[in-house]
Amino acid sequence: MLKGTAVSAGVAQGTAYVLSCGYRAAVPQRSIRPSEIDGERMRLDSAVARAEAELSALQDDLREKIGATQADIFGAQRLILGDASLRDRVLHTVQEKRINVEAAVSEVFEDYTQNLETAADGYLRGRAADIRDVGRRLLSSLATGPSSARAEIPAGAIVVADELLPSVTARLQLDNVRAFVTVRGNKFSHSSILARSLGTPAVAGVPSALAQIKTGDRLIVDAVAGVVFVNPESSIEREYDRLAADLKSSKEQLRHLVDLSTVTLDGTTLPLLANVNKFSDTEAALLNKADGIGLYRTEFTFSIRSTFPTEDDQFEYLERAAERMHPRKMVFRLVDLGGDKILPYFPLPPSRNPSLAERGIRLLLRHVDLLKTQLRAFLRVSAGHPVSILLPVVVGIEDVRQVRVVVRQVQDELSAEGKRFDAAVPIGAMIEVPSAALMIRNLAKEVDFLSLGTNDLVQYVLAADREDETTAPYYQPLHPAVLRLIESVVEGARSAGRELTICGEMAGDPLHTALLLGLGLRELSVAPGQMLEVKDAIRQTRLDEARRLASVALELGSAAEVEALLNQNRPARSGHPASVGPAATRP
Ligand code: PEP
Ligand code: MG
Repeated sequence: MLKGTAVSAGVAQGTAYVLSCGYRAAVPQRSIRPSEIDGERMRLDSAVARAEAELSALQDDLREKIGATQADIFGAQRLILGDASLRDRVLHTVQEKRINVEAAVSEVFEDYTQNLETAADGYLRGRAADIRDVGRRLLSSLATGPSSARAEIPAGAIVVADELLPSVTARLQLDNVRAFVTVRGNKFSHSSILARSLGTPAVAGVPSALAQIKTGDRLIVDAVAGVVFVNPESSIEREYDRLAADLKSSKEQLRHLVDLSTVTLDGTTLPLLANVNKFSDTEAALLNKADGIGLYRTEFTFSIRSTFPTEDDQFEYLERAAERMHPRKMVFRLVDLGGDKILPYFPLPPSRNPSLAERGIRLLLRHVDLLKTQLRAFLRVSAGHPVSILLPVVVGIEDVRQVRVVVRQVQDELSAEGKRFDAAVPIGAMIEVPSAALMIRNLAKEVDFLSLGTNDLVQYVLAADREDETTAPYYQPLHPAVLRLIESVVEGARSAGRELTICGEMAGDPLHTALLLGLGLRELSVAPGQMLEVKDAIRQTRLDEARRLASVALELGSAAEVEALLNQNRPARSGHPASVGPAATRP
C-alpha cells in the first residue's frame, strides 16, 4: 500500500498506465558563438508562438468540454508564456553564458519553480506546477516543433506520473482515465482542481509511485483515504467493489431522498447511521447524509498490513474519519479477530470450530497489548470527537468488566503522558451471541449502549455457519426464534434505558424495515449503499401498523412464513405510493 494525499475524492480500480512527462529530462546544453545569438532569439520567439498557439487551442477545447473556469488554467499559462521579463531573462542567459536557448530556458524555469516550490504558502507551491508546465511545453516546442498529439490512453487506465501537468492532463483521453496517481502535486495544483471538476479520483504526493508501479499493474486508488494498492489481493478488491457499489448506488434513482429526513408516516424521526469498514467509506456515508457511524469495523486496517498497525497508524485514520464526520457520533468497534478473520501475521491455534473458538473480545483480553494499543488510539480520538467504543462478541458481564479495567489502565497511562481523551467515553456491547441476548438486563447495566449484531446472532441461534454455503438454507434472519430474541433485547434495553442500534445486515434490507420498527428498534445502522432504500422504507412505515405486523410475525412458525408475510406487505419503491397498508392492519 502506498500513501499519499487524496486531492480529488473517489475510489477507482484499473490498470496502471505510467506516463512519462519528459520534464527534467536532460536538456542538451552547448556553447554558442556570438554570431549564433540572433538565431537563438528567433528560435525562442517561434517556439513561444507555437506554444502560445497550443495553449490557446487547449484553452478553447477545455472551455467547450468542461467550462470557462477550468479553461482559465491555460489562460494563466499564456500569461506566463507572454511575460516579457521571462523572455528577457532567457535571452540574457543565452547572451551572458553563451549557451543554447534550450539550456537557458531550462535554467530560468528551474530557478523560478524552485523558489515557488519552497514557498510556505500551499497556493504558491501549486503555481510552481504551472510555471514548470510552461517551461516543459517551451522545451518540447524547441525540440520537436508542434506537440499537440493526444496521448493514447487505454480504456480503464489509471494514469501514474511524476506530476500531472495541466497540459498533459488536458491532452489525455480523459474519458479513458479512471484515476490519477502522482509523485508530486498538492490540493492547490491546477491538475488537482481539474481532476476534481472531472470527478476523477486522484491521489498526489506518493513518493514511490514511479518506483513501485509499472504499466499493466492492477491498482486500486482510494482517493478518500489517500492510498494506492498495487496488485492487491482479491479480498481487498472485493472490499473496494462493495464501496464502489455503495458510492454508485448513492447517485442513482433514490438520490432525491438524500435531503429528506428519515421520518415515519406518522411523524417519528429516526437516526439512520452508516456501517463503515475503513476511512474512505465515510465518503459514501456523507454522500448519503448518514446521521453518524453506527459501526466502524476496524478489521480492514489490520488486514491490509503485513504487521500489526501501530497506535499512530490506527489513530491517524480514525482521527481523520472522525474529523470528517464531526459532530456526528462514531462508534468504533474493537477489532474482531478470530473466526473467519485471520491475519497472516497473527496465526491462531487451529480450531475445529473457529466461530466458537477465540474471537472478538475474548481474544483481545488474551492479547492485552493489542487491546491497549487500540484503546489508546480510540481514546485519543475521543478527545475531540463524539466517539463510543463497542466490544465485539460479548458473552456476558465479565467481558465488559474486564475491558473496563483495561480502559481505566489505559486512561491512567494517557493522563500520565499528558494526552487528552474523553474520560466518560461510552462503552457498549455487541449483542450477537445468544447468551448476551438472553442476559440483556444484566448486561445493559454494565454498558452505556448496545448494538445488535444479527449477522452473528443468526448463526449462533440457528447453528448455521454464516460463511459456509452448505448451511446457507439454515441461516435465516427472519426465523421467529431470531425475532423473539430481538424483541426481548429491545425490551431489555428499553427497561434499562440504554440506546440500542441494530447494525447487522438484516437492517439493510428494506423488506425487513417495518418488521424491525415493529419489534421496537429505533436506530438502524446500515451499509452506505443501503441507506436510501432503508430510508425510503422508513418513510412508508406507520409505527402502529408496524407493531401489528411484528406481533403477527412473532406468532408464525418459520422463516418462510415470516418472509411470505413481509412480501405481502413489501413497501412500494419511492415515488409510487404504497397501494395497500400492511396486511396485519387490514380488516
Ligand atoms: C454482526 O455480527 O451482525 C456484525 C455487525 O458484526 P460482523 O458482521 O462484523 O461480525
Ligand atoms: Mg459480528
